[in-house]
Order: sequence, then structure tokens, then C-alpha cells
Amino acid sequence: MGKHSQPELAPTQLPYPEPLNIPGETVGREAVDLANLRDWHQAQAEAGDRYARRFAEAENEEVEIAVAKERRQLDGLTLDQKTNLSRYAYMLLSEQVDETADGNPQFIDYLRRDAPTEQFVTFLRRHTSVLAEQLENGQPFIEQARKQYITNVFQGITDGWISRDATTVYDTVPRAKIEIVDYWQTHNYGIGGVYHRHGDVIYLPQGLGDSPGKRLIDFEWRADHVFDHEFNHREFGDKIFDDYPWLDEGLAEHVRLAMRNGEPGQLHPAIRGDSEVYRGYRALLHYLTQCAPGTEVPARVLTLAYTSNSVESPEWQTMEQQLSDAWGSKYVLDKVTMRLNHHRDQVARDYPDMGWAEQQDEAAIRTKDDLASDPSLVFIEQQAHKQKPQTYVGSAALVGAGKKR
Ligand SMILES: [Zn+2]
Repeated sequence: MGKHSQPELAPTQLPYPEPLNIPGETVGREAVDLANLRDWHQAQAEAGDRYARRFAEAENEEVEIAVAKERRQLDGLTLDQKTNLSRYAYMLLSEQVDETADGNPQFIDYLRRDAPTEQFVTFLRRHTSVLAEQLENGQPFIEQARKQYITNVFQGITDGWISRDATTVYDTVPRAKIEIVDYWQTHNYGIGGVYHRHGDVIYLPQGLGDSPGKRLIDFEWRADHVFDHEFNHREFGDKIFDDYPWLDEGLAEHVRLAMRNGEPGQLHPAIRGDSEVYRGYRALLHYLTQCAPGTEVPARVLTLAYTSNSVESPEWQTMEQQLSDAWGSKYVLDKVTMRLNHHRDQVARDYPDMGWAEQQDEAAIRTKDDLASDPSLVFIEQQAHKQKPQTYVGSAALVGAGKKR
């Protein structure tokens, strides 16, 4: 890890806000392509082609237009995003890490408004070439991580806390599409990685640093924190993501940690102490299973259900039954989800400036507190609204679209 501070990683498949551009697309690509074409014509002209200069001049105008477009993209960023981006731009252009605590807002203003076209194109070109470099240098890590993930899943099956259904990873993981995406799609939103369900692609964040070696180390460090989590979403999350995205997140992280650090039976983030990611959801899962008025539900029952192949599986049915018995109520997960959504709306109103990840944690803690102080808030009052789940900022479409059983 470099001297620069590492941002807190919040791997999530609930990208909020939506990434600005098409996944896999690079900011400034059009400007870079045009600049390359113009330079090619320029070189031809200098080599004696009298027509080439005309093309170069025409393309110069197009470069100006493309660059103006990229600058408008920057205008749409929040002040925080601009500040972060300025560190990145500074690093790429100067080959130095910006150590100042509050970034370099003047630098981003300079890039947006004052930089000569050539300098802006240089920045965009550096960005593009650094991504190409990452894709190449990152491959050995990615292939190794795939193998390790498969090994870990099989170990979990042997140890009895991952479902036998999960042997499918042997076939599916080697075929999974993985891409390294740029700063604009990950760091900029505080996102560590993304599983793009629609395109079935896992996106890993590019590494930062002022040399290829440092960038590779940073990429491996970042990817190492999100790789297994995103693969858990891909391999196990499909069956529940629409209905219980919080459960998918909490268990994607718990299963990742258990595969890495052991103790699959310990859900509580404070006791585990090995990750801050979705700690609210994991604390809620701990409470839901270990602190019910009825019989305790072993964490293994949750991980077996999560890693089984569908919500019709015996493991899933066992989990639902045990949760119902423990709380004396049917549809425990649906009711908890509704209460959680209610709190999420409220947290968004109470703390509009709070970060997205912190809002999730706070809503989870409030739901846990309800279970502790008055479970009827979750299990009785919610029933009236069962057919009309509340929506919440950022994931409304995802949750609202979920069919309730
Ligand atoms: Zn996630």
C-alpha cells in the first residue's frame, strides 16, 4: 500500500447513485480516439502527405468539441467527487500522489475550465493507458483469485457450512466475465466492486498509484477485498436479491470472511472484527438468529440456505422454518425487510448528508433495536403494509420490483 490513505471500501451491488457512463466505457475515450487520429494525420503531413494536414485541422476542431463534452461531465460531479477526482488527475499528470488531506480542488477547476486542450487530452490519454495497463497486469491476480475462490467454496462444503449445491462454482467461476473499471465507476462513488447482474459481469476497481508497480499493488489490494464478495453475489445472490437485497449483502460479506478467516458460525461484526463492510446488516443477522425469544438459529443454517441453489431448496425451507419458530411469526425475512425499508426512508430524511453505506448501517441498527425492544413493531404492525413495501432512495426500483411470496 502506498503512503496515500486508502479509502474505506464499500463493496456493493447496489450502486448509488447510478454510474455516470456505460459499464466498461471510459470517460474521454472519444476525445482520446480523435486526438490519436489527428496526431496520425499530423505525422502523415510531416512525412509529406499534403492532404493529411487538412484532416488534422478538421480533427483538431472535433477534439475541442469532445474535450468540451468531457469537461461538462466533470461539471455534473459533486464537490466531493471533484475533490477526489482532482487527486487522481493530479497523480496521473504529475506522476506524484497528492498527499494533501483535502485534495486539490483548484486542480479540478483548472482541468474543467482553464487547462489547454492538449493538457486535458494528455490527462484523458493517461487515464486510458493506465486502464489498459491494469487489464494486462491484473490478469494473473484475477486467474489466481478464481482458483482460490473455488478452493474456498469446496472447503466450506467439506466443513459443512456451504451447501453441496455450490459445487457448481467449479464450472461457473472460470467462465465468469471480469472487467477492471475506471475511477468514474467505483472510487468516485465509494464503491469497491460491482456485480452487474444484468450483463453478468464482475467489475473490479482500477488500482491507483504513481507507477505501474504501485498501481498493481493497489489494484490487488482493492480487488482482494471485493473479489469473493462479488462472486458470492454472482453464485448465490440471484435467488434473493430482488426480495432481500440486505440479506444478500450481509451474507455475501459474511461468507467471504468465513472463507478467508474461518469462524463461519460467528456473524457478529464486532466480535469478528475483520471487516466494516455492511456491519449493520451482519449485526442484524446476528440478532435475528442468536437472540430470538425461541430456539437459537445456528449461523450455519443461514449460510447453507444462502449457498443452496434456490429458495425451494431444503436448506432454504429449513432456514425459513427455524426463523419462524424462533420468532413465533411467519415470513420473518419479508417482515424484517419491510421494517428495514421503513427505517431506511427515515434515516434518509434524518441524515440526508450521511454516506450511503452509513445510512444502510443505521437503518439496520434501528431494525435490530426494534427486535430487541418490541418485536411486534416488526412482526405485527408491518403486516398491514405487506403488499405495499415502502421504497427508499437509491434502490427503490430494485426493492419495489421484488415479488413478495
Ligand atoms: Zn455487495
